[in-house]
Order: sequence, then structure tokens, then C-alpha cells
Amino acid sequence: MFDSLSDRLTGVFDGLRGRGALREQDVRDAMREVRIALLEADVALPVVRRFIDAVTEKAIGSEVLKSVTPGQQVVKIVSDELVEMLGGEESVPLELEAKPPVVIMMVGLQGSGKTTSTAKLAKFLKEKHGKKSMMASLDVNRPAAQEQLAVLGEQIECATLPIVAGQQPVDIARRALDAAKLQAADVLLLDTAGRLHVDEALMAEMKAVSSISAPTEVLLVVDSLTGQDAVNVAKSFTEEVPLTGVILTRMDGDARGGAALSMRHVTGKPIKFAGTGEKLDALETFHPKRVADRILG
Ligand code: GDP
Repeated sequence: MFDSLSDRLTGVFDGLRGRGALREQDVRDAMREVRIALLEADVALPVVRRFIDAVTEKAIGSEVLKSVTPGQQVVKIVSDELVEMLGGEESVPLELEAKPPVVIMMVGLQGSGKTTSTAKLAKFLKEKHGKKSMMASLDVNRPAAQEQLAVLGEQIECATLPIVAGQQPVDIARRALDAAKLQAADVLLLDTAGRLHVDEALMAEMKAVSSISAPTEVLLVVDSLTGQDAVNVAKSFTEEVPLTGVILTRMDGDARGGAALSMRHVTGKPIKFAGTGEKLDALETFHPKRVADRILG
């Protein structure tokens, strides 16, 4: 995960750590290399600027360079700023205390990993929080999407809403709410339709489903490998249906990390989970500090 970025940055910082004394110019040279590494990782330009300015100011404007271990202190500053960039010290938990069934609406483009993430989340909620979920697919556009969720439901032993051919998303959402109440589910996961691009029809459907189901959480599923596009998709969605968080999938295959490092500051939305593989247990709570530690080796 984020290997190429990690290699680049550890290379720069090993150089800094190894020195007994540091001059202002050494820090500026190192920051120039960090800037290039972040841009090559597809981090948004304003986020890169903010990061470099913050690190440079803290490293140069204080007593850091006069200290006995200046290299280590600069690396500590970088690490703290990286955590900040990823969303702050703490992970942002799901809001699960609302009146059951707590509705979690899953939104995103086709192929982002939305259906898989819905099942992963149901499994996670059962195992980590002891919550009983029901899942319902509202995706009437993609052939076999509803069946796909039913199959995943069987694998993780989670109830799915029976499929009624020809029913439209808003009606499915209504039926799902009733069924979840009847079955005394703690959580109702709505897997909404995706399309290849953000378009008006998709957004209108999303809003209609949201107003019917009053979700406590609206989670956008985006593919980490798409870098800045993932961030732009998040911006477009949250203008229509305010998101409560992001699930970043395929982090296992992402060597660069641009989406993870830009998301919070460009969209204001926290990354709540990371998808780290195809298996249904490959979902991790997103911990900014742990991710920063991984990047810095
Ligand atoms: P949807 O169209 O958004 O519902 O996408 P799917 O849930 O059907 O996922 C598309 C493909 O991506 C499937 O082959 C999933 O197994 C795969 N996938 C989803 N999440 C991840 C992930 O975190 N890592 C990896 N490596 N593959 C994933």
C-alpha cells in the first residue's frame, strides 16, 4: 500500500536523519523532493502546498535546527502533518446510536466496489459491533446487481431484501425500511445504483432515496486507484446528498495514495474505511496515524 510514495519519502528522510546538523537549505532541498513525490502520487496541488508550507515553517521557524537531533525532529513534524492531511489523529466512527434501523446509504459510481463494500460493512458491523444488518440492493440498472448482493448476503449470513422484479429504487427503499423494522434489524444497508459517470439521473435518484430513507450515514465508495478523480467524484456527490464519510477501496493495489491524502482537505469528508482486498473481511477502519506510519516506513 502506497509503496512508491513510501519509498520516495523514506529515501528523503533517511538522508535527513543521518545528519548531525541541518541547515535551512537542507530542509528546503528535502521539501522540494517531498513536493515532487506528493505531486507524482497525485495529491491535489493546494494540499501539497499547505503541507510543504506547514512543515517548512515549523522546521525552520523554531529551535529545531539548533537541536541535537534536527533530522529526527523534522521527520516528526512531517509525520504529524501527514496525519493531519489524512484527517487527524483519530478515526471517525460510524454513527450507530440512532433509532434502529439505522440506515446507511451506500453511493458511488459503477465498479467502485460499492456492492462488495456493502457486504463487507454488514460483516464488519456484525463481528465488531454485534449489529444485525439487513441489506437491500436498489440497483435496477446493472444486470444481476441485486442477485450479486443476495449471493454475498448468503456468504456472510446476512439477510437481504427479497428481489421483486421491476420495482423502482424508491419503492424498494420503502419496502426495505418496512422489512428491516419487521425483522428488528439494527442496521439497514442500502446499496444504491451506480453509473459510469456522475449524471443528473443518478443524482435525482440518490436524493429521492435519501429523502425516503432518512439515512444516518451516507457513505461514498470510491476507488483509490483513480486518485484525483475519486476526490472530484466525492465533491460532486456531496453537493447533492451530503456525505458523512468515504470508503476508499482498492487501497491494497494503490502505490501512490493521492486520493487518501487529498480527500479530507479537498472535500471536508473523513475517510471512514479502507477496502484492502477482494475478500469480504478486507475492510479496515481508516486510522490516519497508522496510514501515516505505513507511508513513512
Ligand atoms: P460496484 O459496481 O461498485 O458494486 O463494484 P463491485 O462491488 O461489484 O466491485 C467490483 C470489483 O472490485 C469486484 O471484483 C470486487 O471484488 C473488487 N473490489 C472491491 N473492493 C476491493 C478492494 O478493496 N480491493 C480489491 N483488490 N478489489 C476490490
